[in-house]
Amino acid sequence: MRIAIISDIHSNLEALNRALKEIEQEKVDEIVCLGDIVGYGANPNECVDIVKKLTPHVLLGNHDEAAIDLTKTESFNPFARIAAEWTGDTLTQENKGYIAGLPFTLERNDLYFVHASPVKPEDWNYILTPSDAAENFHAMPSDVCFIGHSHVPEVFGEDLWTRNIVKGEKFIVNVGSIGQPRDGNPKLSFGIFDTELWSYRNLRLDYDVELAAFKIRKAGLPKNLADRLFVGK
Ligand code: ZN
Repeated sequence: MRIAIISDIHSNLEALNRALKEIEQEKVDEIVCLGDIVGYGANPNECVDIVKKLTPHVLLGNHDEAAIDLTKTESFNPFARIAAEWTGDTLTQENKGYIAGLPFTLERNDLYFVHASPVKPEDWNYILTPSDAAENFHAMPSDVCFIGHSHVPEVFGEDLWTRNIVKGEKFIVNVGSIGQPRDGNPKLSFGIFDTELWSYRNLRLDYDVELAAFKIRKAGLPKNLADRLFVGK
């Protein structure tokens, strides 16, 4: 079975559509979305509508949570908070209800999925370094856990030198972000895992950044949320 794992769409319709076109060509068996469908970008309802129909395997992200409960924006920077308020005002009641029903974790096909971290998923802690990852391996019910949240694609193994997933060892795989990459590369990022070969591939693709950024400015959202898409920061 081949599974496409997407995360951190952040209301970027252009990036989502480009990723889904590629996923269709890859002919995967299923799709998992690790959350943060909304926040930052200009098309929250459009993105939620697509994800809803795309797959039943969808997790809650911190920006999804903030858009339906603004008390959860305390740790957000001012730009993220403005975007969360705008998203909360823009989302339909139906889509807010859908978000409210999303879970924190998913266990499926001997794999584990969470938006932020296996230890206390609801705390939204970041896994940025091998030592962050090391503190999380014990909380995984499966050998491989897929995460998003930092928007930086990475594979963390128990053995620090192993970047290729091997059977029988634990790995935390960050699939990167569809709608707001932050590793200095503006190309959208997601992953495909093959459960028979036990192998993982990170895909990076160009999309219409120009249009996504234009829509952010036009919506009156903070200008830097548009600018950062061009540099992937
Ligand atoms: Zn995010």
